[in-house]
Parts: sequence; structure tokens; C-alpha cells
Amino acid sequence: MKIIFAGTDDHWSHYQTTLPAAFKRAEINASITRDLDTHDADYIVFAPNGPLSDFTPYTKTKAVLNLWAGVETIVGNATLTQPLVRMIDHGLTQGMVEWVSAHSLRYHVGMDAHIHGQDGTWRNTSWPTLAETRRVTVLGMGALGTACAQALRSIGFPVTGWSRTQKTIDGINCLSGDAGLDQALRTADILVLLLPLTDETNNLLDAEKLALLPDGAFLLNPGRGPLIDDEALLAALDKNIAHATLDVFNTEPLPTDHPYWAHRQVTVTPHIASVTRAATAADAIARNIVRIENGETPIGLVDRTAGY
Ligand code: NDP
Repeated sequence: MKIIFAGTDDHWSHYQTTLPAAFKRAEINASITRDLDTHDADYIVFAPNGPLSDFTPYTKTKAVLNLWAGVETIVGNATLTQPLVRMIDHGLTQGMVEWVSAHSLRYHVGMDAHIHGQDGTWRNTSWPTLAETRRVTVLGMGALGTACAQALRSIGFPVTGWSRTQKTIDGINCLSGDAGLDQALRTADILVLLLPLTDETNNLLDAEKLALLPDGAFLLNPGRGPLIDDEALLAALDKNIAHATLDVFNTEPLPTDHPYWAHRQVTVTPHIASVTRAATAADAIARNIVRIENGETPIGLVDRTAGY
């Protein structure tokens, strides 16, 4: 079996040992090359910021295995006729669960008041409410959104999840569709965005939708920057939104002079909410190759029509 690794040098420095080790564990007998002229490759392990953009020559390739969860920069590539598989991996999911839980708890227990209030004044007149009184909404109930929703539920937050198709998930109030979105936003004391970027989700959080959030709402966006209308969010920070923690942006890196950097109600994190870690992702890639070789559907097969 021939496999092209079409990632950056940095990716390769992590995968050149982990991938062969994962293949060995999965009993896959494969040669891995970075030579893009290997037109008879069985699989392509692909990073959107790597060297490959024209998939036309790879007529024998059974699948393109994306190293990232997000596929918005490749799903519309007209030369890509091979099945596209996005990354679903324990390490990626766990990293996101930790980031979302940490930033939700920062808001919930009011950590900032104490971190920034070390002025010698003993203020013990108010206590955090319990999580059961703070409603969380997660938009996007896929691999990451579902895991985050369940983690937040296990802490005690009442959690509503919104997705394109209707779901039933134990302990989560699952909503879908346009009416479901309005309802999900109206009850979001903390709103978490874990939607993929598609034609439907682009600018979804515009002025009208942001206005539905309760007064004093908190917003976490580890999904994609264009999910939010930036101007509308900046305006909403003067109205009903108390604070936003943003990990992803319309332009990355976020330009130095962008108003988000200096805004007292915004925390910028530099697209680090989670990352595909070779240590666990190599096994996810190997497992999907085994599935395809056995005639099974790979985990994370992208629906081109839906765009994710
Ligand atoms: P999934 O594809 O597993 O889940 C996507 C979810 O969004 C699904 O529940 C889907 O609904 C829902 N959805 C998609 N379109 C719509 C729509 N139009 N209306 C309502 N719901 C919709 O993705 P992941 O959970 O793996 O990842 C989510 C995103 O997180 C990625 O696309 C990426 O942008 C971002 N990400 C960010 C990282 C970071 O470090 N900041 C790291 C990794 C990912 P349904 O279930 O019905 O299909």
C-alpha cells in the first residue's frame, strides 16, 4: 500500500515516527512518502496548509484523510473527487472539552473578579451560583460539540444543543432547525459555537441572532471566525453580551490593530482551543484505513453537499 503524506515539514516532524508506529499497531503494510508524484497512492494524508492542491492525478486514491476537523478550505476543491475524511480523534476532542470547560467555568465562577481584584480588599459579599442555574447552549452537536455538551452537563449546567438534524442525547435538550436556533439562543447564558463553516453557517450570528441572547450572556467561539458578524458582536458587547472569548477569526493571525485585542470584554486566544495531536491522530488515521480496506465507511466521511 502507498500513502502520500501531504502535510508541512512541521507536521512531518510529528508524523514521521507516529504514523509508521500506528500502521504497525493496526497491521497495515504501507510505504509512506512525501513525493507528490506518487500518482498511484492508495491514500493521501492531507493538511490544508500543505503542498497539495490538485488531486486530479491520484485516480487510484481511495480516500483523502484530512488532518484537521474543519474542511471548509478543501471541500469545494473541484479537483477533489476522492472521498474526503475529516479528523475525529480522541486527543482533538479532549483538548476542546478542556478549553470549553475551562472558559465556561471562568465565566461561571467569576474568576476575573478575583484575578484582577488583588488590591487588599476582602470582598466576600457574593458567591458564585451553582452551575444548575446557568444555562449553556452549544451550537453544533458533532464530535466536538457533543463531547463539550456532555462535559458541561456532567459539571451540572443545564445544556441545550442545536444541530442541523434532530438528535436525542441523554441529559441534553436537543433542538434543530430555525425555530430551534432562536429558542437555543434565548436560553444561552453561555453560548458555545462549535459549528463548521459552511454557506449556511457563515455569518449565522448576526445582529438579529445576537440580540436574542439574554442580558449578561457570555460567548465562546472555538468554531470558526466567520460564524460571527464582527461588527454585530462589537455592538452587542455594549448591549446584552457581557464578554466573549474568541479563538478563531475572519483573519488569522488576528491583525494587531483589530478592536478585539484592546476590548475589555473580549479575550483573544490564538486558535489554540484544540489541535490535532500526532500521538493520537496517527491511530485515528490507521483505524480509518483499516475500515476502508474492510469495506466499511470511515469515521468522519465528509458530506460534500452539506459542506462538512
Ligand atoms: P462535526 O462535523 O462533527 O459537527 C458539526 C455539527 O454542526 C453537527 O452537529 C452538525 O449538525 C452541525 N451543523 C452543521 N451545519 C449546521 C447548520 N447549518 N445548522 C445547524 N447545525 C449545523 O464537526 P466537529 O464537531 O468535529 O468540529 C466542529 C468545528 O470545530 C470544525 O468544523 C472546526 O471549524 C472547529 N474546530 C476548531 C478547533 C480550534 O482549535 N479552534 C479545532 C478543531 C475544530 P448535524 O449533527 O445535524 O450534522
